Amino acid sequence: MKRAIGLIPMLLWASGAVAQDAASEATRAAQAELAARLPLNDPADMANATRGKIAEIADGVILGKDGRIVWDRRPYAFLAADQAPDTVNPSLWRQARLNAVHGLFEVVPGKIWQVRGYDISVMTIIRGESGWIVVDPLLTEEAAAAGWKLFADTVEAKAGKRPIRAIIFTHSHSDHFGGVGGVVTPEQVRRENIRIIAPHGFSEEATAENVLAGNAMGRRALYMFGAILPPGPTGQVDTGLGPKLSSGTIGYMEPTETVPAAGATLTIDGLAFDFLDAAGTEAPAEFLFYIPAYKALHTTEVVTHNLHNILTLRGAQVRDALHWSKVIDAMLLKWGGTAEVALASHHWPTWGQGAVAKWLADQRDAYRYVHDRTLFLANRGATLHELADQTAEAPVQGRDFSTRDYYGTLNHNMKATYQRYFGWWDGNPAHFNPLPPEQSAAKYVALAGGPDKLLAAGKAAIAAGDYRWAAELLDKLVFAQPDSQDARAALASAYDQLGYQAESGAWRNYYLAAAATLRGTELDTLTGNGQSRSFVSAIPTAVFFDALATRFDAAKGAALAGTFQFVLPDSREAVAVVVGGGVEFPRYGVTDPAPTATITIDRKTLDDVMLGQAQFPALLQSGAIRIDGDRAAFLSWFALHPPADPRFNVVVP
Ligand SMILES: [Zn+2]
Repeated sequence: MKRAIGLIPMLLWASGAVAQDAASEATRAAQAELAARLPLNDPADMANATRGKIAEIADGVILGKDGRIVWDRRPYAFLAADQAPDTVNPSLWRQARLNAVHGLFEVVPGKIWQVRGYDISVMTIIRGESGWIVVDPLLTEEAAAAGWKLFADTVEAKAGKRPIRAIIFTHSHSDHFGGVGGVVTPEQVRRENIRIIAPHGFSEEATAENVLAGNAMGRRALYMFGAILPPGPTGQVDTGLGPKLSSGTIGYMEPTETVPAAGATLTIDGLAFDFLDAAGTEAPAEFLFYIPAYKALHTTEVVTHNLHNILTLRGAQVRDALHWSKVIDAMLLKWGGTAEVALASHHWPTWGQGAVAKWLADQRDAYRYVHDRTLFLANRGATLHELADQTAEAPVQGRDFSTRDYYGTLNHNMKATYQRYFGWWDGNPAHFNPLPPEQSAAKYVALAGGPDKLLAAGKAAIAAGDYRWAAELLDKLVFAQPDSQDARAALASAYDQLGYQAESGAWRNYYLAAAATLRGTELDTLTGNGQSRSFVSAIPTAVFFDALATRFDAAKGAALAGTFQFVLPDSREAVAVVVGGGVEFPRYGVTDPAPTATITIDRKTLDDVMLGQAQFPALLQSGAIRIDGDRAAFLSWFALHPPADPRFNVVVP
């Protein structure tokens, strides 16, 4: 059972001693070992990251319409230093500096440009016969609008204004479509017949992923992206995949056409695009494409300059490393010998036929290694933590920075691959049904001879530089005694060093955010992103009712029974929610002949509720909701859908 963070730890920590630790001797030694082993001064990536730069947004500052800061690179000026501070993994430092390069870049002279460094993702603009084709308009409307303005003020100002002819969403993750409203309006799309092209399955996947499990994913995402950390050498430096998430409005527009699973060649504004399907690699709906006329390969998010996630720390359904590697090989076979430039929707392009082919081959091998090494070891009896621990680095990771652990890691990707084949259980019956953490923690403390002894053992592990063991011991102590200031401080110290040493931006952020939580210095950020009406209204009604069912308090509602018939006049939909035995089952499209109550509500009003712009009592009063039948039964059932706490505890019980 999770308790909300109480006042007690906040008050304890208000008295001081909240400072983070400096890098320990063990951490400095680990950073030095890595720095000595890797060619960190290899200039090739920085040359590519800065190549073709023609303009930038001053100071990297983007404001929303209300003057709120959507993006600000000024607090990241510390990244100007060549030399990594000893509180940042030197390889991650290199990646953060590459991701920090921001501006408008000419990728293929006069043909392809990219706006980079103004969101976690990258927007590409391609010249068609008569206008522009925009690929992946960032996460938020404000960031995309600023990026488009930079392009218009620079390229269009010189070459002449041209219309947007098409928008391509390469996959179903919101950092690739959420900003579309900053580039075009829905009216403009209709009036000017702008094509919006996406992979098959896009509409279903684009909103589905974050609705059912959204609260928990959102909480974990704050840790993973470091949103609750201040920028700085002991705080957020980068995510590995890009600097950070922009904090504006996430919108949505429905594609006007999709590319089938078999792939296709489409002529878009007079230009041929060869699409290759990549569903089930980095996203459930995804493609990549090649433009023969420009000899340019867009690898979308299938191939980027990091080892990506087979399982993201925020939580998602596990991905398929084997399929991922096969799609990369298909790309290599088709275009590896002809593509002269390869660009993606994160990071910087790669120029030169040889370099492109090598990048693809190395990326393919990285995902293949994740997969095959996991099964090699699993088939010899290793379980998920064992096999990840036995595999420090893939051979390709030692020679190609693009395959290193900046976002996903070999460690957690191998565990994820194990999960894909075997599930969460390692096959050891002691782990099949263990005591929950709070119960076992108290028993461990007793076994250790009391909290002082366990604390001493944790501190001894920290002194020895054995931070993983320290974290394991001190986590037990914190779960047994969450209000103990000493236990929290010691565990935070262990997390500090684990964070400083992490090469993955996601791991670093997660550890340091955990330390901040323990110290009570977590920034008060729920999320910087507001969802727009366009996004919420794209959530299918069936998914909305499935999400409602996940909020049903079965413990309190076990005795309830009835059928609640929803009628949505404006969208002409009907959902019969059958309640009984602690379960509510929404039957989409079904009209029950004898419901307990019938609730008439427009889908648009449901959107208002989801957007927090309307409350049920007021809607009942105004008549925006009509209830026929057993009104009291409906109200007592509906009251049993408590909202989930968006700040639930993660690193304390
Ligand atoms: Zn992305």
